[in-house]
Amino acid sequence: MTTNSPADVVAGLRATFATGRTRPLDWRLGQLEALRTLLTEQREALQQALHEDLGKGPAEAYRTEIGFTLNELDHTVRHLAEWLRPRPAAVPEAFLPAEARAVREPLGVVLVIAPWNYPLQLALAPLVGALAAGNTVLVKPSELAPATSAAIARLLPRYLDPQAVAVVEGAVPETTALLEQRFDHIFYTGNGAVGRIVMAAAARHLTPVTLELGGKSPVVVDSGADLAVTARRIVRGKFLNAGQTCVAPDYVLAVGDTAPALEAELAEAVREAYGEDPAADPEYGRIVNTRHFDRLTALLGDGRTVTGGGFDRESRYLAPTVLADVPPQAPVMRAEIFGPVLPVLAVPDLDAAIAFINERDKPLALYAFTESDATKERLAAETSSGALVFGLPVSHLAVPELPFGGVGESGMGRYHGEYSVDTFSHTKAVLDKPLH
Ligand code: NAD
Repeated sequence: MTTNSPADVVAGLRATFATGRTRPLDWRLGQLEALRTLLTEQREALQQALHEDLGKGPAEAYRTEIGFTLNELDHTVRHLAEWLRPRPAAVPEAFLPAEARAVREPLGVVLVIAPWNYPLQLALAPLVGALAAGNTVLVKPSELAPATSAAIARLLPRYLDPQAVAVVEGAVPETTALLEQRFDHIFYTGNGAVGRIVMAAAARHLTPVTLELGGKSPVVVDSGADLAVTARRIVRGKFLNAGQTCVAPDYVLAVGDTAPALEAELAEAVREAYGEDPAADPEYGRIVNTRHFDRLTALLGDGRTVTGGGFDRESRYLAPTVLADVPPQAPVMRAEIFGPVLPVLAVPDLDAAIAFINERDKPLALYAFTESDATKERLAAETSSGALVFGLPVSHLAVPELPFGGVGESGMGRYHGEYSVDTFSHTKAVLDKPLH
């Protein structure tokens, strides 16, 4: 942790940016390589921190945090030169002879504010994009994942250029103080209430923001879908990180008469994935803190329990739980669940499913299991969401050529791969007409 004031830290980063040293491709690639070394050499320490904060098992911690960031980094290193190449533009005849091009230039000082649920990935994947675009970066990890936050604060300045990358740890007071500073871009991941605070603070300096928010991501299960495969894939996506994933399936809309058979398959899929006693599975996570634990256990009374429902407050263990016959007005259907509780609601047909989705906030992801192209086309044409995924919930965020972001209440802006470089750059128009 730095002991300098927020103003000093930002001034330092701004001074580094002004030297121009972050602009050359070699510097950017060098920083990305240094980050790769950090992730490789410190793998065990990072896995340990993630276990301390969220009970993440080593395999899940690697796959969803360290390995995920390495993939993002590799993809960026591979393509960065091509993404930075000026794009020629056609010039109208009246201006000829002349040349025109669009050029990506870095913005300056970027602030990344990260949440606790994937505390490493969600701090470092935006960092990859911000460095690739040639910026200096201030990272503010989440105080609710203190071990990971401390590791980030200790390691980033050790491996990366400490004058170009700074870490400020802390909670609301520290973040509030940071937000008084002028940044050239603020990249925030977390809940929408704080998203509004961030955007209001950014407005004072006319700073552009990316808001990666959350919400309830529905899963539509169509009549005729293979329910055993469907259940297995929903379970894998839902109970990853004990349901504390922004793109986790939040609830299921079971179309027609699919609900009873689907419920049975979901119970079976949970048993297959986590055994008879999920508490004993080292890869099954824990709830981040008692506040969230109490919030989640209060939801267990809604509907009929198909499987799960057990919990232990002291270890913040909450069993993978499936609820059926949940009324649409039940508390579990009001806000994002963000935990291992999966309500299943029966709807008579696809029209009802689409109406249900469209009556609510635009989700970060919409998932569907269907064998019907007509259903796919209708969902694509008649709903709006950050992402639309058929057949494999949560997987889209690991496709680096796809943009990742929300729409409406689920956020604004996008990142990953080239979309990150776009987010953290200004695309400048250059027109060059010879004088003679
Ligand atoms: P959190 O509590 O860790 O907060 C996120 C960040 O905001 C932290 O760094 C925190 O210090 C800061 N913060 C909190 N209160 C603040 C305030 N008053 N002023 C300024 N900064 C403040 O995480 P969270 O918000 O509980 O995260 C969970 C939410 O994030 C869920 O809604 C989830 O869906 C969403 N999320 C979205 C994505 C995505 O990529 N779209 C990823 C993960 C989580």
